[in-house]
Amino acid sequence: MNLLSDIQNLVANPVLTNEPLARHTTYGVGGPAQFYVNPANRKDLLQVLEFCGKTNQQYFIIGHGTNLLVSDQGYAGLIISLAKSFKSLEISAGKIIAETGLSLRRLVRESLHNNLTGLESLAGVPGTVGGAIKMNAGAFGTEISNFLVEVEVIDETGLIKSLSAAEIDFSYRRSSITNGQIITRARFELAYGDPDQIKDHCDLANDKRIASQPIDKRSAGSVFKNPRSDLAAGYLIDQCGLKGSKSGGAEISTKHANFIVNTGNATASDIIALINLAYHKVKKQFGIELELEIKTLGFAERIIP
Ligand SMILES: Cc1cc2nc3c(=O)[nH]c(=O)nc-3n(C[C@H](O)[C@H](O)[C@H](O)COP(=O)(O)OP(=O)(O)OC[C@H]3O[C@@H](n4cnc5c(N)ncnc54)[C@H](O)[C@@H]3O)c2cc1C
Repeated sequence: MNLLSDIQNLVANPVLTNEPLARHTTYGVGGPAQFYVNPANRKDLLQVLEFCGKTNQQYFIIGHGTNLLVSDQGYAGLIISLAKSFKSLEISAGKIIAETGLSLRRLVRESLHNNLTGLESLAGVPGTVGGAIKMNAGAFGTEISNFLVEVEVIDETGLIKSLSAAEIDFSYRRSSITNGQIITRARFELAYGDPDQIKDHCDLANDKRIASQPIDKRSAGSVFKNPRSDLAAGYLIDQCGLKGSKSGGAEISTKHANFIVNTGNATASDIIALINLAYHKVKKQFGIELELEIKTLGFAERIIP
């Protein structure tokens, strides 16, 4: 038996091999994953994770790849995606239970349809509910953790655990959920609000996003975290005169300096060159060491030396 058939025997859906991760990231870059699987249900997911635990097989959970930079060499392990089969959503009396492969946009839209208020500022943030919780996604003063009550996580020991939001350490674009923990389900609680106000608030958030971000181009959102709440990484990069800087097919957005966009044929190396350019120029000019917001996968070394 080889590794592929071992994994295939555990899941109903086909296990893909050498799957280009450029297909699964909004940057549109990234080499192949050795294996890629969409578990059809919790039983399959659990079996795969237990297998990884017992055999020391490396794995990584991907959402919609909207905050992810994958190396040009790809990933020598198993990618697990919940985005096809883990998308159920129940809403009742202000309580929402969502599987985490669901898109965040759908969660926000369904909240709106149910006259529930809280998540409006997140309208337009791409990605899955799972990715949003892991990253503590936020916009215009709201973070997803503000409305989270509880999650279910599974790891490679096969242990299924409920964690209350208070048990998770959330901060700006960060949670204490580890890379081995897969969030499968989340419970939120929202208050009822005025339907017109909720819709207006969503529209406003979308309009602000359209006005300030290059959403018509391939990117992974903000590359760096803001060093302080009153000091934006994009401002610092702009002050260094770097808007429009290019490396191969990658460009520091002319619209928002904290976004690097793929203008068509960028590689991960092109993007890394611009990340380094911005990091070092900001460090030299302001003495500030920017911290990456995007997650990286498949790199042997730190991408900022
Ligand atoms: C145009 C654009 C605009 C953006 N604007 C914003 C913004 O305003 N605010 C903001 O916060 N972000 C923003 N982002 C970044 C991104 O949308 C968020 O970080 C998003 O929440 C990532 O979700 P994802 O499913 O794509 O995760 P991925 O990028 O696939 O993964 C990100 C991390 O989450 C982990 N992960 C994914 N799913 C799970 C799971 N089920 N269990 C455990 N871990 C998991 C991954 O392992 C990885 O570490 C933007 C991105 C783009 C492209």
